[in-house]
Amino acid sequence: MSRVAYVNGVYRPHGQAVVHVEDRGFQFADGVYEVWSVADGRLADFEGHMTRLFRSLGELRIDPPMSREALTRVLRETVRRNRVRDGIVYLQVTRGTARRDHPFPPPGTPPSVVVTAKSMNFDALEAKAAKGITVLTQPDNRWGRCDIKTVGLLPNVLAKQAALDAGAGDAWLVDEMGLITEGTSNNAWIVDKDGALRTRDIQANILRGITRQTLMEIVKEEGLTVDERPFSVEDAKQAREPFVTSASAFVLPVVGIDGAKIGDGKPGPLAKRLRDLYLDKTRDEAI
Ligand code: PMP
Repeated sequence: MSRVAYVNGVYRPHGQAVVHVEDRGFQFADGVYEVWSVADGRLADFEGHMTRLFRSLGELRIDPPMSREALTRVLRETVRRNRVRDGIVYLQVTRGTARRDHPFPPPGTPPSVVVTAKSMNFDALEAKAAKGITVLTQPDNRWGRCDIKTVGLLPNVLAKQAALDAGAGDAWLVDEMGLITEGTSNNAWIVDKDGALRTRDIQANILRGITRQTLMEIVKEEGLTVDERPFSVEDAKQAREPFVTSASAFVLPVVGIDGAKIGDGKPGPLAKRLRDLYLDKTRDEAI
């Protein structure tokens, strides 16, 4: 029996059911989902899952794509079209499709909605339950692998949007010790109050920025040194020059932190020089 999926208002053959390449679910994991068990063609624990769905949407400030009643109709229709008696129905709602950028897309961007359903062999599930399972313990590090450049960027997206909502240009993320880890899409640096150029070491849970790496080489070529030592929010506020690095922003001066002006509130000389040196080197050597 051929499967059918609901995608943004249309029921399509499963193999042709696609979302846009710039769907924020695909680009940022910027979405939520729910799964209902289907028992004899009916949705089990219906209210609990629906309530959690609307709570999840609210927490992420994703507009509900439709009313509960309309959504219920889509869930039931997907179950019906797939002739599921025992199985599951899966719903995913994302922040929609927009040009890839961390901040939320413009208001009015419609959320994406995907619903799929699949049959499961109830007897096989019962047989499995009769035997039980074994488990392996693993460290709970969800998500503690920021050194991997994954598309699981929802925390970055939410921090970036919080910064924009507060009138700032980006967020700097702070660990449990009050030390800056990195920006939402860049590495964080300071020239501290004593003039030392500092950026956090890569043992820490940060992305190993390529711009950071190249800038470190440039700094050495210039006869300067980089101190790979973490710095606190207070260190950053008292710094002569905070700045960030990334492939898309190069070297970008930071002139205010948490509403406080840094120095005279203008980009500092070293950040400007490093930006020029970085652009010269990388543009010359680009292949
Ligand atoms: N940290 C994070 C979280 C990022 O997303 C990025 C940019 N992709 C960076 C740092 C900077 O990395 P790169 O210099 O390689 O662009």
